[in-house]
Amino acid sequence: MIGVDIGTTSAKAVLYAKDGTVIANHGIEYPLYSPTPETAEQSPEEIFRAVINTIKKTMQESLVNPKDILCVSFSSVMHSVIAVDKEGKPLTECITWADNRSSDWVEKIKTKMNGHEIYLRTGTPIHPMSPLAKLVWLQHDYSELFLKSYKFISIKEYIFFKLFGEYVIDYSIASSTGLFNIFSLTWDQEALKVAGVTSDQLSKPVPTTHKMSGLNEAFAKEMNLLPSTPFIVGAGDGVLSSLGVNAIEPGVVAVTIGTSGAIRAVSDRPITDPKERIFCYALTENHWVIGGAVNNGGMIFRWAKEQLGDSIAAAAKRLGKDPYDVLTEIADRVTPGSDGLLFLPYLAGERAPLWDSNARGSFFGLGMHHKKEHLIRAVLEGVIFNLYTVLLALSELIGEPQKIHATGGFARSELWRQMMADIFNHDVYIPESIESSCLGAAILGLYSLGEVDSLHVVSGMVGATFHHTPNSENVSIYKDLTPIYIRSSRLIQQEYESIASFQKKWV
Ligand code: ADP
Repeated sequence: MIGVDIGTTSAKAVLYAKDGTVIANHGIEYPLYSPTPETAEQSPEEIFRAVINTIKKTMQESLVNPKDILCVSFSSVMHSVIAVDKEGKPLTECITWADNRSSDWVEKIKTKMNGHEIYLRTGTPIHPMSPLAKLVWLQHDYSELFLKSYKFISIKEYIFFKLFGEYVIDYSIASSTGLFNIFSLTWDQEALKVAGVTSDQLSKPVPTTHKMSGLNEAFAKEMNLLPSTPFIVGAGDGVLSSLGVNAIEPGVVAVTIGTSGAIRAVSDRPITDPKERIFCYALTENHWVIGGAVNNGGMIFRWAKEQLGDSIAAAAKRLGKDPYDVLTEIADRVTPGSDGLLFLPYLAGERAPLWDSNARGSFFGLGMHHKKEHLIRAVLEGVIFNLYTVLLALSELIGEPQKIHATGGFARSELWRQMMADIFNHDVYIPESIESSCLGAAILGLYSLGEVDSLHVVSGMVGATFHHTPNSENVSIYKDLTPIYIRSSRLIQQEYESIASFQKKWV
């Protein structure tokens, strides 16, 4: 089976044997266009071509007979919006999750358009990433274009329309639009009214296991697939990644720290948060992924490498060493807790747990005794403390985690992995995860075709590479620091707007 992931930076295809072994894979990158700091767009056609070509290359490299392909199943990035005309031609670029141009409308949706009630039914926090906010923005600031638009679709619908001539949206992508009632599995009438659209302007919602038919013959030929090959509509990338790292059992929490970060758990029913800290997106009708996405993951360590450790990083490079490895060695010279230095990592504004794009970072507790290595260690600790606060919010809703699976670039560092075990005071397992969203998509495809009885087959396909247990001495240090981290981050929150508006005016 082939799992395809339409990501933010590239399209990837992985061809798996039925037992999960990788036979061939391929990825093709595409650009993200940011003509202004607030804009983050992509070309729908560039992404479409990347998807076709990546499947084609994977087929070519695998030498597998097209007759032997059980299915092609799709993972896709969430929250994208493309306005199209009657012929399906894009009237806008693909406006991605990272586009912030709707940010002025977010507060209005929250305070004047009953946003909180809408969140409670739709599971998507009111935020510029949300298609709901994007449609409100387009409706008011680009009314001519908005009125001309025949439909508003995501990148996955764009690709499926080109392949099958039909507009369908899976429950998972729908559940990340802010327009879809996750309890009734229908478009939410109040959200649609706020967005200024009717359900005819959106695609038909279908289960994530939905099988498409009528594949365009020319495209099938180009991909080296039979037109009869089953295509499974699939789900969003985050929820499929939870499946692909074997984190779908109740009580298992998946933590990812790549460029950004996320914490996710699976529930058998949709759950939303009275305090609006957590998202809830569909994997299937019986598997709901709840959790929080944070902006400030590994990108903060990258910032520290460039701004605090530039000379160290340059020396490491000269010696042929990985600058991150050298920086973590330096951070390891300092005792846990960085001798009382805390770092609030909100350099890129923050989604969960603050949902405040004005949030900014700070070091707190600096003394004359602190050196550069303290700053570096505090940065690593701050990223984990922040994720821990998201975990606490999640635990309020679904109880204490039974098992923690952690993935992403951060897992290359033993120190950072152990720090997670110590701050979370919990065992941490690092599952094998190569293109986990593609694997998740492929397993969902198998399930959809009835080839397996449940999604739990994943447990036989994914092993663990590392296991960290909390060190009791470190745990007691972090236990003392955690409440100070939480209180100071709350106190300073009141000033984020003033410092951000200063920066907008003067910087
Ligand atoms: P993406 O989310 O873009 O796929 P990755 O999962 O590769 O990215 O994560 C990238 C991040 O991983 C970097 O920003 C950095 O913080 C972290 N990272 C990469 N290598 C190391 C390393 N050797 N030690 C610690 N952290 C690392």
